[in-house]
Parts: sequence; structure tokens; C-alpha cells
Amino acid sequence: MAQWLKRGATVEVRAETDRKVRDVVESTLADIEKRGDEAVRELSVKFDYWDRDSYLLTKQEIQDCIDTLSEQDLKDIEFAQTQVRNFAQIQKEALKDVEVETLPGVILGHKNIPVNAAGCYVPGGKYPLLASAHMSVLTAKVAGVPRIVTCAPPFQGKPAPAIVAAQALAGADEIYALGGIQAVGAMALGTQTIDPVDMLVGPGNAFVAEAKRQLFGRVGIDLFAGPTETLVIADDSVDGELCATDLLGQVEHGPDSPGVLLTTSEALARETMKEIDRLLEVLPTAAIARQAWETFGEVIVADSDEEMVQIADEIASEHVQVMTRDPDYFLNNMTNYGALFLGPRTNVSYGDKVIGTNHTLPTKKAARYTGGLWVGKFIKTCTYQKVVTDEASAMVGEYCSRLCALEGFAGHGEQANIRVRRYGGRNVPY
Ligand code: NAD
Repeated sequence: MAQWLKRGATVEVRAETDRKVRDVVESTLADIEKRGDEAVRELSVKFDYWDRDSYLLTKQEIQDCIDTLSEQDLKDIEFAQTQVRNFAQIQKEALKDVEVETLPGVILGHKNIPVNAAGCYVPGGKYPLLASAHMSVLTAKVAGVPRIVTCAPPFQGKPAPAIVAAQALAGADEIYALGGIQAVGAMALGTQTIDPVDMLVGPGNAFVAEAKRQLFGRVGIDLFAGPTETLVIADDSVDGELCATDLLGQVEHGPDSPGVLLTTSEALARETMKEIDRLLEVLPTAAIARQAWETFGEVIVADSDEEMVQIADEIASEHVQVMTRDPDYFLNNMTNYGALFLGPRTNVSYGDKVIGTNHTLPTKKAARYTGGLWVGKFIKTCTYQKVVTDEASAMVGEYCSRLCALEGFAGHGEQANIRVRRYGGRNVPY
């Protein structure tokens, strides 16, 4: 039986926080819908101290941002974007259109059609998270989305040059310096100056993730991608310093970011907790990381790899870093995770920033029903059918007619009957 050496905040505490965020988001979205640009501007001033007549960045402003970056910065962004683009292209190739004759004269198919306009949110409140621009804008581009709108909040009082450069280099059509609920609300609902999009994608804090959730239906969304979560699964083949580094490397995202260590070694668990205390004394982002670790951090000692799989599937964490003697056991047996990082040579940061898999991933147990962002999320798989012979139409029509009668659907039945009469020459009564 697994033993908890450290427990995180209770379900009740988490639910109360969620409720408060839900209420703020609901009233804010209603205000944006009613007053449009005026509300967006007020919110931008209130939360980001950022006031402009238009939040759309001009070509010159975008170029100025690119020009502030060093040659090395631009090369690094280009390297990361190449990795993300390459993997996205390979994933796109796996999405095939289908057309097949399922019965003589009956042709069924599906076509993969990109959405016409996507709104890509790039978070930037606490850190200028430029990597999110590669993950959403570039992936939308590879998917073939014709209009790509992107928003990121100003960082320390002005647009973050690295984010704007990444948004532009990834191929965005419209770049707005807007953050939070006002950004996703404006993109989804439209305002006097911003045309609405068909779907919203990208990660963000609790307000952004909840706003996307509430807007679902009005627009499509990729997935619920809120505050970062990480689960480190380890055995005594690795040491506490490595586990502590990988936990702190993710909980520094925000005070609401849970980090969990799940291990079969109590000695490793205790060493990791000591290492976390030591590293928190030197980590420059310790103020945030300490709060997150103290509130949400967990340390669990399990009896076996099998029990670790069971607990990890229940947690359904966004990131799962596996550092055991047989990491493939977890690849072969786990079913609920946003992304797996297998073996001590890789880690979540590689995935977050550069390696090529998408870093926009499900949180709050959404990994039970979805994977992360990828080209397929921007693509609608739409079916069609053709019946190309009279015989096929009449044959299917007779089945259809009887099935409609079972449901009591006279109008549906007549759609079938008229075809049985016309194409089959059989007199089916009206
Ligand atoms: P953010 O851009 O998501 O949010 C900043 C905005 O939040 C601000 O522009 C402001 O308008 C709004 N805001 C702040 N306080 C508010 C309040 N009290 N009421 C209403 N609005 C408010 O940037 P962030 O805050 O740094 O958060 C980024 C988040 O993205 C982190 O939680 C991180 O863990 C998460 N993330 C998730 C994934 C994923 O795939 N799940 C990936 C990367 C990052």
C-alpha cells in the first residue's frame, strides 16, 4: 500500500479556488461581450497597466521587437521552431483523407479541413513564455489554418520582444499585445476592432484556462491547459538532486503548480525532500516555487512499478517524467498523461522549450480524455457520402424506411420512400 510522506492541498481548498476563478471569468466575459473594446481596454489597464487605442501591433513594432534580439537568440528560436514544425508535419502526414466503397454503389469518405481562424494564446504574465508561440502558432500554420490571430500580455509594461518575435517568425497574421480573460474573450467573441476566431488554443493561468472552458461552444477549444503540473516517477536508479531539480523546474511556473514525486524508494523520497529544501535556498525563482511546493507538493512511496502506474493514472498529470530502470514499462502501461519524458537523459524542460513535441498539455485530470495540442486539433474531420447507382439508393432506402418506421419518423421515412419509388421502381405508400 502506498504511503504519503507529504500531502498537497485538500480537494475542498482546490474546489474553492476554482469557484472563485469561475465567478470572475463569467462576469468578465459577459462584460466583454456587452461592451467590446471598451471593456477590453479597461481590463488591460487594470490587470496589466497597459493602455493603447489599438492592441494590434504594427509591422514596425514587430520588426523593432525582432531587432532587439541577438543573433544567437534568433538562431535558438529558429532551432526550436524547426523541431516543432518537423514533428507537426510528420503528425499531419498521419492524417489521411478517406474514400471507400462500403457497399456496391455506396461511397463514404472523410475530409480533413482546417478551421478558418484560430486564436493562439501565448502566456506571459510571470515569464515571457515565447515557447508557447511555437507550440500554437506554428502548429496552426502546419495544419493549414488560413487566419492565425495571437495574443500575449505585455511583460513588465510592454510587449515582450522574444514572444513577439516568436509569434511573427511562426507565421501569425495578427499579433495583439493583450493578456488574460480580455485576450481570449476578445478573440472568441470579437469586438469592434477584432474579428472573432473559430477556435482558441494555447495554455495559460487559471483565468485563461477557465475562460477558454466557458467559451467552448461559442468557439472550439484545443483542451483544458491550465497551471502546469508535474509528476516525477523514480526508483533508486537515480538520485535526489535529479528528482528535486525536475520537480522545482516545473513548480516555478506558478504558486498553483503541483509537483508530485512517486517512488518505490523511501530513501530517495527523503533525499529528494532534503534536496528541495537545499535548492530552494539558491533557486532565483524560489519565491514562487516554494509556495507551490509547500501548498501542492506531494511525495508518495509505492510498493511496486505496478502500483506506481495505478497511482499515476489516477493523478493523470500533465507532465510525467519517468526515471526508473525500465521506463518503457510506463510507456507500455500508463493510460492517463499529457506527455511522457522517458529516462533520466530527457526532462520536461526539453519538451517545454525545444525538442519538438508540443508543450500545450492537459491539466486538472483532462489527460483522462485528451492528449495535448497537435495539428489534428485544428482540423475538422468531416464526412461525406455519395450513392452512385439506382440499385444502391433503392436498397439502402428500403432498410432506411423500415428503421424510420421503428422510430416513428414519418418525414425521415418519406425521404427514403421517394427514392425507393424513383430509383427502385417499387411503390412504397406515402
Ligand atoms: P498568463 O498570460 O496566463 O496570464 C496573465 C494574465 O492573467 C494577465 O494578462 C492578466 O490579465 C490576467 N490576470 C492576472 N490576475 C488576474 C486576476 N486576479 N483576475 C483576472 N485576470 C487576472 O500568464 P501567467 O499568469 O504567467 O500564467 C501562465 C500559466 O500558463 C502558468 O500557470 C503556467 O503553468 C501555465 N502553462 C500551462 C501549460 C500547459 O500546457 N498546461 C504550458 C505552459 C504554461
